[in-house]
Amino acid sequence: MREIDLHVHTNISDGSETPENTVRLAGELGLRAIAVTDHDNVGGIAEAAAAGEKYGVEVVPGLELACGWYGREIHMLGYDIDPDSEELQETVRWIIYDRRKRNEQIAKLISDDGVKIDIDELEASHRGSTIGRPHFALRLVEAGRAKTLQEAFDTLLNPGCKYFIRRNFLTLEEGAETIRSAGGKPVIAHPGQYRLDRAGMEELLERGKKAMVAGLECYYSGYTEEQTALYRSYARRYGLCVTAGSDWHGKNKERINLGSGIDGELCAPYELLEKLREHD
Ligand code: AMP
Ligand code: FE
Ligand code: FE
Ligand code: ZN
Repeated sequence: MREIDLHVHTNISDGSETPENTVRLAGELGLRAIAVTDHDNVGGIAEAAAAGEKYGVEVVPGLELACGWYGREIHMLGYDIDPDSEELQETVRWIIYDRRKRNEQIAKLISDDGVKIDIDELEASHRGSTIGRPHFALRLVEAGRAKTLQEAFDTLLNPGCKYFIRRNFLTLEEGAETIRSAGGKPVIAHPGQYRLDRAGMEELLERGKKAMVAGLECYYSGYTEEQTALYRSYARRYGLCVTAGSDWHGKNKERINLGSGIDGELCAPYELLEKLREHD
């Protein structure tokens, strides 16, 4: 049964829709619960929770943190967090400060190339939102430097491209500890995105397990049945819960549908959320 979607972005990070609209859409789709998991930001949770009451959708308070992993990044979702936790807030402030420094450098590179970007203006027009590469991608498309957001990332903003500046990351352990300190359950997001071989996956899950990670996002937009079966077998082996999320970003990732993924491959029962809550 298609009942939940545990990976959803709003315009508090790089999604296109407000928390209220996101929850309303979930209600229209008949979903029982969604987790709001904005990047490095818990500022959308209160609005989403209020909308949840209004539209009869359970809103799981969450977020998504990026953690460094051998020069790349892996993503950690947190569920049932207390957004007012002091330790969480402090970590988020550090991330936003680090992003701000990186954003200034990216804005300078792009501005020097003739596409003016004023970080103060960008922040003012997205008050309270996590600003990152998606916002630069949009500006580059508007300025005609790329045809699509995807092209802007692939040719200008990804590692190896001329506007790429690396930000600093939490470690996997710090990410998990931040979520635990806010009373939440850490879950490793979209394991298929990291291009890890078997040994790499095992290392990730072993370290994750030691760091008190509770689950693995085995169902994800675009994953085949074979992929999901593989991740489910890893989850079983490491005693991790199986979770499911679309990584919906509204119009900013057009192919992904809330609750159902790209081709309806996502169809997650509420039971997955219950099991996660029962997990230590
Ligand atoms: P940042 O955290 O600022 O480095 O930006 C990374 C974010 O950009 C990710 O969370 C993605 O949601 C988004 N992103 C990455 N690649 C793409 C892409 N090709 N098209 C649109 N958004 C993307
Ligand atoms: Fe994103
Ligand atoms: Fe992610
Ligand atoms: Zn995400």
